Amino acid sequence: MDMDLTPQQKDARAAYHAFVDQHIVPHADRFDLEERIPTELISAMAKEGYLGAVVPEAFGGSPIDMISYGLLAEELGRGSSSVNALLTVHSMCSFAIARWGTTEQKERWLSRMAQGQMIGAFALTEVHAGSDAKSVETEAVPTADGYVLNGRKRWITFGQIANLFLVFGKCEGQLMIFFVERSNPGVSVVPISGMLGSRASMLGEVRLENCHIAKEDVIARAGFGFASVLASVLDIGRYTVACNCVGIGQACLDASLAYTSTRKQFGVLLKEHQLIQQMIANMLTNLNAARLLTQRAGYLKEINDPRMIMETMIAKYFASTMANKAANDAVQIHGANGVSSDYPVQRFLRDARIQEIIEGSSQIQQMTIAKYSYQQ
Ligand SMILES: Cc1cc2nc3c(=O)[nH]c(=O)nc-3n(C[C@H](O)[C@H](O)[C@H](O)COP(=O)(O)OP(=O)(O)OC[C@H]3O[C@@H](n4cnc5c(N)ncnc54)[C@H](O)[C@@H]3O)c2cc1C
Repeated sequence: MDMDLTPQQKDARAAYHAFVDQHIVPHADRFDLEERIPTELISAMAKEGYLGAVVPEAFGGSPIDMISYGLLAEELGRGSSSVNALLTVHSMCSFAIARWGTTEQKERWLSRMAQGQMIGAFALTEVHAGSDAKSVETEAVPTADGYVLNGRKRWITFGQIANLFLVFGKCEGQLMIFFVERSNPGVSVVPISGMLGSRASMLGEVRLENCHIAKEDVIARAGFGFASVLASVLDIGRYTVACNCVGIGQACLDASLAYTSTRKQFGVLLKEHQLIQQMIANMLTNLNAARLLTQRAGYLKEINDPRMIMETMIAKYFASTMANKAANDAVQIHGANGVSSDYPVQRFLRDARIQEIIEGSSQIQQMTIAKYSYQQ
């Protein structure tokens, strides 16, 4: 593996960085406060091709290599984890269509998704089914031409504005995955607000009540692709979250370097105190390690190496732990300012906390990584 980015990847990173500095960093606290991201930002992201990053060109996308995709997620995460959450779920849904959808579905949805005219979401979690995905209770009953779905999906990121949901349910006891359009008369969404972090990611509870879908809108069933669809879709989501955590770590480091270079206590700048230097040194070291792990995961995806799923899990586990430690230390370094709304580090800490729960909690990652270790 070449450890350096290619000139194209460096250029792409510079462009993502500039976009985030212009469109996200100055407004991210407001997004957090208002618990929404504006439609103008979604349009700007679409215009840059970010919402079509995993969509083939033939269907209106602007596909990029997986390392560049990771750099995009990292930069968005540096600005706002909530904005990165849009990339995460939208890419999970568009990736599933691009890979397993019929030609008719690709033509119907992908180019509108790449242009930001349709938003995709991922609807797995329910009141009684979280880490244990196989315990979903959403029920699909077969009809002559399709299925009737009933169930409730909880904590659905961008559920408030999504037009297309990747829904996990069961039919006659068998796990299945469906595409469900928001325009279906059986679909309603109840907004969820007041979360600790990722507050602008417009969560919703998606309710499916006698929701009729066509038989073509099933993308997988147990024994017929279910395991590989679930693993691949979660893998891209986990990779996006891992890179988001690297972005949070970078934002914490940037804020801490700036603050300690201007704030004086005991007659010298904070950066002269060794205990502050210790926190800065650990922040940079762990950030570099997390970035290497995520870039390795991106590289393995690029060459389609089967180790990518496990290496992405390792990267997500490490990077989310790193982001929490970095954000905790960044708040400590900022003292009372750190817990005030005048500085963004309190948002970084709240957002970092979410990353250890979503796309497989740290405990689930640890158990899976341990199991894998014994198989080596
Ligand atoms: C901001 C946010 C956005 C989200 N967006 C989405 C979304 O877009 N789509 C979606 O489908 N879901 C979404 N979720 C839900 C998320 O995927 C779940 O919260 C996650 O899978 C964990 O499930 P749970 O919350 O039900 O916790 P539980 O599974 O009930 O777990 C509770 C605790 O027990 C631990 N635990 C569980 N099982 C074990 C075990 N076997 N051994 C040891 N410890 C265990 C967990 O690690 C956790 O600490 C979102 C959640 C949040 C907070």
